[in-house]
Amino acid sequence: MKRKVLLIYTGGTIGMEKDYTTGSLVPFDFSTIFKRIPEMNLLECEVSVHPFEKPVDSSDMGPNEWRMIAEWIHKNYDAFDGFLILHGTDTMSYTASALSFMLKNLSKPVILTGSQLPIGDLRTDAKENLLTSLYYASLYENDEAVIKEVAVYFEYKLLRGNRSLKYSAEFFDAYQSPNYPILGQSGVHLNIEKDLLWKPKGEFELDIYLNEKVIFYRIFPGMNFESLLEFKTPEAIVLQVFGSGTIFNNEKTQNVLQELRSRGIEIVVISQCVSGGISFGKYSNSNIFTTIGGISGKDMTAEAAITKVMHILNNPKYDKSFSELFCENISGEVTEDF
Ligand code: ASP
Repeated sequence: MKRKVLLIYTGGTIGMEKDYTTGSLVPFDFSTIFKRIPEMNLLECEVSVHPFEKPVDSSDMGPNEWRMIAEWIHKNYDAFDGFLILHGTDTMSYTASALSFMLKNLSKPVILTGSQLPIGDLRTDAKENLLTSLYYASLYENDEAVIKEVAVYFEYKLLRGNRSLKYSAEFFDAYQSPNYPILGQSGVHLNIEKDLLWKPKGEFELDIYLNEKVIFYRIFPGMNFESLLEFKTPEAIVLQVFGSGTIFNNEKTQNVLQELRSRGIEIVVISQCVSGGISFGKYSNSNIFTTIGGISGKDMTAEAAITKVMHILNNPKYDKSFSELFCENISGEVTEDF
């Protein structure tokens, strides 16, 4: 039986070609994709293409586009066996993370991919990324999808979406998942690590709630930390601090953090290191966070922490406190016993 995959094309380099008059990359008509890659007709799955009306550079993707994609998937959930989202690489991990919270308990694969070079380029990485992603998006065994989560496929590697991050603007091998093992690898054989895959905890559910009153703040030595008080009405701050959770040990820092908390602002702490994460109490310069009720983001990526905060902050669906919700492992974004 031929599996059906819905391919949602959002934009990014993968669907661009060079305009030889200006030298810039511009989107091409994606409905011509079967002509450009005739190999797609040889696949064992049936692909339906649903392009964005106006494809965008992924720096223009945000909560509205994430909601739109989530709603499309929800609307077409029963009609398709898997979903593939073609996306610009710059913010693909944000979209993957947001979708992993909005599309709860998936029983079908949602794969995101893109490319570093346009599909029409002789040396393109787009073709392999696209064809192998389609394979993963239609992978079934005994009439059951093998992958039941949001994943990113890039340069021979399948990664958990909310653990992935773009680390190179140069290499084809542009994505990493420093705190969770690779889910699958494409070599001579396409393999998949079944024990590492996420297992849904209930029925599939759509929840497109996202609160945008979140700011992200990265500290640096010598900064004016009081500038944090100047932001207008954030409801939560994702604070990216040093190493395993350290910050300046002085009264000013304490006063700023206490003032933010007294304004009712939630503070989530993540690390500037991409590998490893936060461990309060390891150094005395992290104790301030325990005192003011800061919440550890443990080993989460910045992309996952930001989108998780957006999703749970005052979400009317939940009756738990923000910190209880943040500490839950919703879709494999955090190592529980970190
Ligand atoms: N600027 C592009 C984007 O993120 C880069 C890419 O697709 O690789 O849309």
